[in-house]
Amino acid sequence: MSTEELLSSIGNVSDETEFYTPMPSGYIRGRTRYVVITGTVMSGLGKGIFSSSLAKLLQDKGLNVEPIKLEGYLNIDSGTLNPFRHGEVFVLDDGMECDMDLGTYERMLGKDLKAVNFTTSGQIFTQVLGKERHGDYLGRDVQMIPHVTGEVKMRLRELAVSSEADVVFVEIGGTVGDVENAYYIEAMRELAYEEGPNSVCFVALTYVLEPKTLGEQKSKAAQLGIKRLMEMGVQPHIIACRASKPVTEKVRQKIAQYTNVPMERVFSMHDCDSIYVIPNMLRESGYDFEVIKLLRLEQRINLKRERAAWLEWSDFVDRLDMVQHEVTIGMTGKYTTVRDSYASIIHALEHSGAYLNTRVKICWIDTSDVTETNVAEKMNGLDGIIVPGGFGMRGAEGKITCIKYARENNLPFLGICLGFQMAVVEFARNVCGLTGANSGELSQDCEHQVIDILPEQKKIEGLGGNMRLGGKDVEIFPDTFASRLFGGKTQVRMRFRHRYEVDPQYINQLTEKGLVFSGKAPGQPIMQILELPEHNYFIGTQAHPCMTSWPLKPQPMFVGLVAAARKAAYPEEDLPDAISATEAILKQTKQITSAKSREDKNAQRRREKTKNRI
Ligand code: GLN
Repeated sequence: MSTEELLSSIGNVSDETEFYTPMPSGYIRGRTRYVVITGTVMSGLGKGIFSSSLAKLLQDKGLNVEPIKLEGYLNIDSGTLNPFRHGEVFVLDDGMECDMDLGTYERMLGKDLKAVNFTTSGQIFTQVLGKERHGDYLGRDVQMIPHVTGEVKMRLRELAVSSEADVVFVEIGGTVGDVENAYYIEAMRELAYEEGPNSVCFVALTYVLEPKTLGEQKSKAAQLGIKRLMEMGVQPHIIACRASKPVTEKVRQKIAQYTNVPMERVFSMHDCDSIYVIPNMLRESGYDFEVIKLLRLEQRINLKRERAAWLEWSDFVDRLDMVQHEVTIGMTGKYTTVRDSYASIIHALEHSGAYLNTRVKICWIDTSDVTETNVAEKMNGLDGIIVPGGFGMRGAEGKITCIKYARENNLPFLGICLGFQMAVVEFARNVCGLTGANSGELSQDCEHQVIDILPEQKKIEGLGGNMRLGGKDVEIFPDTFASRLFGGKTQVRMRFRHRYEVDPQYINQLTEKGLVFSGKAPGQPIMQILELPEHNYFIGTQAHPCMTSWPLKPQPMFVGLVAAARKAAYPEEDLPDAISATEAILKQTKQITSAKSREDKNAQRRREKTKNRI
């Protein structure tokens, strides 16, 4: 049997050949192309940022792109990972708890991703072992190659079929040389072999060192890292050199010669102020057309659409530099030492700040040392505060103290998840007179457990996957501040990740004293948005609104906070309040250029026509 015959026999699982290429039904080889991104030299180079920026450039051209992140660790998802070590746990609309890179993809591509866009070794091995027990391997010894690698390829092809993607972007977590991701790289080598020439483009992201003592860029670590990749049978097509400054011609030459990659495909990707300028930086360097050429996608692109999309994006990027005001937002939290644990919040503030021509400075406040006596001093100079989500005792009392200060001093406040719960506790204690009120998470024997575990979560044991997770609809009550903030909508969708909620038996007591619950779960007594109408800006939500803030669609709760903070910081200027600022921006972001949407419709029509063509 020829290679071609072997590969085209769909679902080829037999003990007669060494090939193991399970293919999902409906898979057409060659229809979907793949861009595989690996990292060398060190982790933390911003593979996700690079990959999502490149994916965005292809999406702009009317191509249907789908990312997938392959994580090496054995956890099934990121739910049990410590944000201190791994950064924020990002939650997708379908409830998948995943790596923060998925947040980067959503923000860059402006679309909701799903569980199929994220895979871990834990998921792959669970699948393989399940199949083994089921007898699916027909008496064969189950091996890393071809069975485990076969499962990896299957995931990618399933994604290709379900999304009808033109290009799947595969980001391999970790660094080349790690034991955990070696089988992913091997799977990608096999994929390239099976899919044939011009179907898979390998991009190696590397790092060019510039030791202070030498004062010049050194390429050796980059060369060795890529060599390691080549030893694994993968010849990169494109090399992206991360560096603090633009990579010199000489260094690019050295890398090109050492790795068989032509000079025009060895690019510099140096540090810049905002990740949102990277798509334009890649575009100027010509990365996008190198990929288009390598993957022979010239016939599928739409340059008219690209122009419209690029204008829209550049409009946002230009705003980042059009700063007229500056505000300082205090961020109270436990993981203040690791900024990645609050990545979405930082981004949401950046999005809102851009639309308001305001630079948002963040002042990190460790609430473990905030007390009644020093709170005024700690809040000094702040124009607003955010009490973010979190788990456990540490710093909780300090957060409550900060919220009390914000409530009493008209300081703009946004409470997110745990921050929302702490605002309820504060109000119960200090306004309703419920001494000893607390959350069941923080004190099991307190007198008034105003925040209690969700009944549906009580039944679930263990720490993995036991929260109320994912995108949920929130019903917004009419004539409330929240309803005006959301442009009159009666329902919005936000992302959740929590175990506790406001105990319904305390709702009356809280509202009688002036706390307004302005949003709740439809059909359930789960309170999800709170506000104080008399206050400048005092709003909290059980959700994580930061996870659905995109550059081209800033989230209203953040826009409102920055606008309220700006108004407070510049009292002498006649600036719009939170509601009118949000209204204006909502209107602006709704006007998606008609050219872009017209081209999208054309592209959809074209896709329908060429669905089964390669
Ligand atoms: N610890 C709280 C809960 O489980 C809040 C969770 C969060 O802030 N993500 O409900």
